Amino acid sequence: MAGKIFIVGTPIGNLGDLTPRMRRAFEESDFVVAEDTRVTVKLLNHFGIKKPLLSYYEHNFSKGDLIIDRVLAGESCAVCSDAGTPCISDPGEILVKQAHRAGIKLVPIPGPSAVITALSVSGQDTGRFTFEGFLSVVKKQRIEHLKDVQYEKRTMIFYEAPHKLLRTLGDFCEYFGRERKLTVARELTKLHEEIKLTTVGEAYDYYSENTPKGEFVLIVEGCKKAESEEITLDSLTQKALALIDGGASVSEAAKTVRSGTPFSKSEVYKAIQNQRENRQ
Ligand code: SAM
Repeated sequence: MAGKIFIVGTPIGNLGDLTPRMRRAFEESDFVVAEDTRVTVKLLNHFGIKKPLLSYYEHNFSKGDLIIDRVLAGESCAVCSDAGTPCISDPGEILVKQAHRAGIKLVPIPGPSAVITALSVSGQDTGRFTFEGFLSVVKKQRIEHLKDVQYEKRTMIFYEAPHKLLRTLGDFCEYFGRERKLTVARELTKLHEEIKLTTVGEAYDYYSENTPKGEFVLIVEGCKKAESEEITLDSLTQKALALIDGGASVSEAAKTVRSGTPFSKSEVYKAIQNQRENRQ
């Protein structure tokens, strides 16, 4: 008879979040499939459990086949990632699909996940939300992703690493606008946990001055209806002209008012120049 695969969530930084079901899943398994065996062995040591470990990462297809074959032959295994819930911006998704195809029983062992932990304390609308994971580091894919969600109405949740945070906040300023609400959830469940409800622009300014440290979840307010429906080149031009009357240069005004809109800086710039010529 085939064994089963436990998909085991593990703490995102606080061993106090380990549960009896996590322990039992490891105990009942013949082997443990881990993202990084050096990380998972520490968890097993904490429980005083000794099990053979197998490293597995996404697109390591031959390992996936091997795991499936062993389970079909009667062994059970626990699958976990370095921290949090497997398959959520972590390896496991492909293995789970393979298990479904092979008719293997999957047993979820819920544990913390940074996305839900952050959302629960975000102070943002939680009724409808989308998980966006990490933005690609490849410029073309990154821009496609941002354009895709620019007018998303649901609350959006992104993962980010500290060394890429500032670039991401800069892009958020451009695509969502500086005024959009943002919750920065940092080092959740750890000693230096921090949860700040701020705006995209304020967060960008803050991290331009303070080096980001630790792990981050970014929760972005969804686009409000009026915001997506009422933006026209003409309304932006009027806003820009008011800024120019207040002392801003044409270039500064164009850059400020186009942020978070579908219009490029050069389109707005040209429209401002046309209006100014017509005024004279
Ligand atoms: N599967 C994991 C989960 O369910 O939480 C996520 C793994 S993903 C590779 C790692 C990212 O999750 C980090 O870059 C960060 O964005 C987020 N993350 C993980 N632990 C976190 C924590 N303690 N505080 C804030 N963000 C965290």
